[in-house]
Amino acid sequence: MRVLVTGAAGFLGSHLCDRLLAQGYRVVGMDNFLTGNSANLAHLRSHPDFQLVLHDVTNFIELEGPLDAVLHFASPASPVDYLEHPIPTLKVGSLGTHKALGLAKAKGARFLLASTSEVYGDPLVHPQPESYWGNVNPVGPRGVYDEAKRFAEALTMAYHRYHGLDTRIVRIFNTYGPRMRPNDGRVVSNFIVQALHGEPLTVYGDGSQTRSFCYVDDLVTGIVLLFERGDADPTNLGNPHEFTVRELAALVLKLTGSRSEIVERPLPVDDPRVRQPDIGRVRETLGWEPKVGLEEGLRRTIDYFRRLTAA
Ligand code: NAD
Ligand code: UDP
Repeated sequence: MRVLVTGAAGFLGSHLCDRLLAQGYRVVGMDNFLTGNSANLAHLRSHPDFQLVLHDVTNFIELEGPLDAVLHFASPASPVDYLEHPIPTLKVGSLGTHKALGLAKAKGARFLLASTSEVYGDPLVHPQPESYWGNVNPVGPRGVYDEAKRFAEALTMAYHRYHGLDTRIVRIFNTYGPRMRPNDGRVVSNFIVQALHGEPLTVYGDGSQTRSFCYVDDLVTGIVLLFERGDADPTNLGNPHEFTVRELAALVLKLTGSRSEIVERPLPVDDPRVRQPDIGRVRETLGWEPKVGLEEGLRRTIDYFRRLTAA
């Protein structure tokens, strides 16, 4: 099977390319390098089954030859990135998803949308099942990401219902691991980089807000399973183990052996108070659940950032 991964030079896209190639797929990676990093794909440069195309997916996508699937991962994902690129974020979620769906339709290909737990906004239901419609502020700063993804979901369902396209929607919860950019602003990379440099760990607010962190290998396993054997209804993927941000900071200090202090910084506007996936649906339908605990996943991620810092 030949598949297209948009956002291939990003954190998740590059891991997904690796996994698909390892499972025998031929992969076309597409990216405009807005938040991606060519180093994430450097090891694939001479891979016979991998092809990299430089393209902004908000523009018409031309791709020669047969294509069996489109996995649409292009979009800034870190709050720092999408607040810095609000309009490209809205465009890639709307126009980019439209172009990617149009390509899938023209090729008779399956389509998978990388959606997000942000569609639940600052949730009033906890943990979040797929049936929850969410609590999103459409005009707040995070609305550029949340509403783009909500629109992308609606468009995907419309192509499924109206054009009969074979689609998947995966709602990804906070995922971490090697290949996150050291300065991409997300909490796990921030804390590890700060700890390794002996700088203060910046806890936003009082750190009592919660997130549930999934190691990238677990997530990619879930994505491929959902892609191959799932259905069109939105599906949560994430690690249901919930931590406060302060607990995460303490764990990073312990695992790095760093003596950095913890400082408080202002809480970003509309920062969700809590977040935890209800993964009952994917457990039942596909038997998936994460295997790597936070301590083990952080150790692997710390190793990566140590090597990056040393290089
Ligand atoms: P990332 O920023 O590392 O990767 C995104 C990639 O998309 C980058 O390589 C970027 O250059 C590319 N891109 C952006 N706009 C583009 C455009 N117009 N045309 C072509 N390429 C474009 O982010 P990530 O963490 O790898 O996230 C990937 C996807 O997964 C995103 O769609 C994101 O919304 C979703 N997601 C990620 C998480 C997470 O925890 N990492 C959680 C929820 C959802
Ligand atoms: N956060 C923090 N310090 C940082 C970066 C983030 O305390 O240096 C907090 C942020 O306010 C949020 C949580 O960590 O409550 C997760 O933030 P992240 O940007 O990783 O992703 P989000 O889940 O908000 O999309």
